[in-house]
Amino acid sequence: MRAAVYHGPGDVRVEEVPKPEIKAPTDALVRVTHTAVCGSDLWPYRGESDRDVPSRIGHEPMGIVEEVGEDVRSVQPGDRVFAPFVISCGECEFCRKGLYTSCVNGDSWGGDNGGAQGEYIRSPHADGTLVRVPDRYADDEDALRALLPLTDVMGTGHHAAVSAGVDAGDTCVVIGDGAVGLCGVLAARRLGASRILAVGHHADRLELAEEFGATETVLGGSDAGGDVVEDVRELTYGGAEHVLECVGAASSMETAAQVCRPGGTVGYVGVPHGVESGGFPAFDFFGDNVALRGGVAPTRAYAEELMDDVLGGTLDPSPIFTKTVGLDDVAEGYRAMDERDAIKVLVKP
Ligand SMILES: [Zn+2]
Ligand SMILES: [Zn+2]
Repeated sequence: MRAAVYHGPGDVRVEEVPKPEIKAPTDALVRVTHTAVCGSDLWPYRGESDRDVPSRIGHEPMGIVEEVGEDVRSVQPGDRVFAPFVISCGECEFCRKGLYTSCVNGDSWGGDNGGAQGEYIRSPHADGTLVRVPDRYADDEDALRALLPLTDVMGTGHHAAVSAGVDAGDTCVVIGDGAVGLCGVLAARRLGASRILAVGHHADRLELAEEFGATETVLGGSDAGGDVVEDVRELTYGGAEHVLECVGAASSMETAAQVCRPGGTVGYVGVPHGVESGGFPAFDFFGDNVALRGGVAPTRAYAEELMDDVLGGTLDPSPIFTKTVGLDDVAEGYRAMDERDAIKVLVKP
């Protein structure tokens, strides 16, 4: 089968690789029909984080079950499914707590599971990992495009909002206008926030944030004249109780803490980078008793409730996919995201 293979910074190729096979009775083989390039795939692509070379890549699969092991109960061949970016058993202490990302039997996509940017994956622990899409939506392309972000970014944006404690009537700030930040806006609106300030570096993405429910936007970065922290503090009369940190950089952590109201909470979900070498702004949290909650999003925990809303027509993250490519053009997908020509790229193997 064909799959994307990471060969080093700036170098993702589609190659012929062995097709995965059922190995354990709890496995399922899934033919991937939809997958995506993630912001976190860009860190190795940009040489900003280490990754084995060569290695299979991608972690946001959706497709059709082709074969199941004899112990699999929740799905059968022909079912439409998607999978979160982490494999989980659904039965251990942490899965039962909803902390699927800490599953003691867990794994990530890649290796002989198949990276999710390829024609097939083998899903270990299929009952715990795969989310079955109701049959009536199994071939509804609009519904599938709106469900695909539940594999990662929509669940992650939701985790940011939940971790920040967003509730009905609240004022919150969303730091980051990438796919996760935009989904954080959707999540905050869904949870009933009455004021949502979206902070980003790109005017066009902040426009989408407004379509998603942001009540105000603040443009930062080199193109903007103002001071983001000052602007947000002024708009919120001293900071917001709930801040969603959706980037993961040391600078955005710092901004998040500084726009958080004393005693408030920052929900952080961006994969940390650049914060290892003394970059974590502990004093910005310390001085005003700002709480920090969150971490890698257990998106499996949120899949059903978010799917209900997507299929019910009240939640639609699909506009984050501003570009669609075939598997053979996955390299072009990486380029487009790296150069910010696309917010998020949908890949159709
Ligand atoms: Zn992802
Ligand atoms: Zn588990």
